[in-house]
Amino acid sequence: MQEDHTESASHAEPAEIAHDDAHDAGLGDAESVATEGAAAAATLADVLLAAEELWPESLAEDWDAVGLVAGHPQMAVAKVMFAVDPTLEVIEEALDWGAQLLLTHHPLMPKGVHSVAATSGKGQAVHRLIEGGCALLTVHTNGDSAVGGVSDVLADALGLTEVQPLQHASLGLPEEGIGRVGDLESVMSLGDFAERVFEMLPAVAGGVRVAGDRQALIRKVAVCGGAGDGLFDAVRASGADVYVTADLRHHPASEARESAAGGRPFLIDVSHFASEWLWLPAAATALGNVLADQGFDVELAVSQTNSDPWDFVLTPGLAAPGA
Ligand SMILES: [Zn+2]
Repeated sequence: MQEDHTESASHAEPAEIAHDDAHDAGLGDAESVATEGAAAAATLADVLLAAEELWPESLAEDWDAVGLVAGHPQMAVAKVMFAVDPTLEVIEEALDWGAQLLLTHHPLMPKGVHSVAATSGKGQAVHRLIEGGCALLTVHTNGDSAVGGVSDVLADALGLTEVQPLQHASLGLPEEGIGRVGDLESVMSLGDFAERVFEMLPAVAGGVRVAGDRQALIRKVAVCGGAGDGLFDAVRASGADVYVTADLRHHPASEARESAAGGRPFLIDVSHFASEWLWLPAAATALGNVLADQGFDVELAVSQTNSDPWDFVLTPGLAAPGA
């Protein structure tokens, strides 16, 4: 699975998650002994029910397009691949691996379409999925908001404690919602923290950008996987020293720095893809646990494709010493 994706080498190396490993990593070992002997083949409908348990569609934002994109509910599903984006490269990877279900964070068709002719990229994606016998399921803002969702995984990976949603879900539990805020185990410099962020994420061309004094000490951290520049009011209200998110555009970022008068919250801008990739292994493990507890034998894997759109970056910071 890795041979075609040498450019996707990462700090956090993507890993195939075997069903047994996924289950062993979670709850219910005693039950697994009882069910392993009678492991049954799952249908797509079984997997959709398990996914709904973890990432209820009711948690999705109104504007979002989540749920089943392609596939018959009755079809057998023995292999599920997780990825951030349903790009053609990812779809080919899933088909090569023999997946019957590709679960992606981003929707294939976030806006209305009038054609799925194979003359367009989206249409070709639909054709390849159907021709290859592979269903597609989108778990997007419902996967952000849920417990164990994208920002929860980011917060965990950064070592945050006392974690709460940055913006509570309107129809959810108190621990559900968009973004997370929590505390580091101890005070550290913004520079050291940025290095922690960099080391934790998959390697992408864009790296990590920081706004703020490198030596400033921080403790309270807000995070939002994916594009989070609509959450500045919530970030300020949380009292966070630093905000880690992706796709920070010039005007929201500039205005946030102006209103902070050069102080807190500092900003750390990361790759959208990288910030959401971390969720994939955790999501695969969670789905594997639910399916195993129900007696289903499903193999799970995380895509090795780097679908970050950027390939290289030029920066004056890399000028030769003495230049
Ligand atoms: Zn996203």
